[in-house]
Amino acid sequence: MGNVILRAVLCFETWTLEPDREPDAEPTTYAMQCAVDGDTSPPSQDFAEPQEWVLKHCGKNPSHGTYREIITRPWRSWIGT
Ligand SMILES: [Zn+2]
Repeated sequence: MGNVILRAVLCFETWTLEPDREPDAEPTTYAMQCAVDGDTSPPSQDFAEPQEWVLKHCGKNPSHGTYREIITRPWRSWIGT
C-alpha cells in the first residue's frame, strides 16, 4: 500500500487596495441608526438628510438619545502596485 502525499500550492500575489475615486465608482452614502432600537434612516449622499431623520426620530422617541453614523464608502482592489 503506497503513501498518499498531499501538496498544496499557495500563490501569493501583491494586491493593492484603495478608496474608489473613479468616475464610475459607487457613491459614498451616509445613514444614521438609533442605538436603542436599531431603526435606521434611508442612506443618502447628503449627510444632512440622515441628521434630519435623527431629529424626527428622537422627537417621536424622546428616550432614544444615542445614534450610530453608518458611512458606506466604495473601495477597489487589484493585483499589482
Ligand atoms: Zn430609536
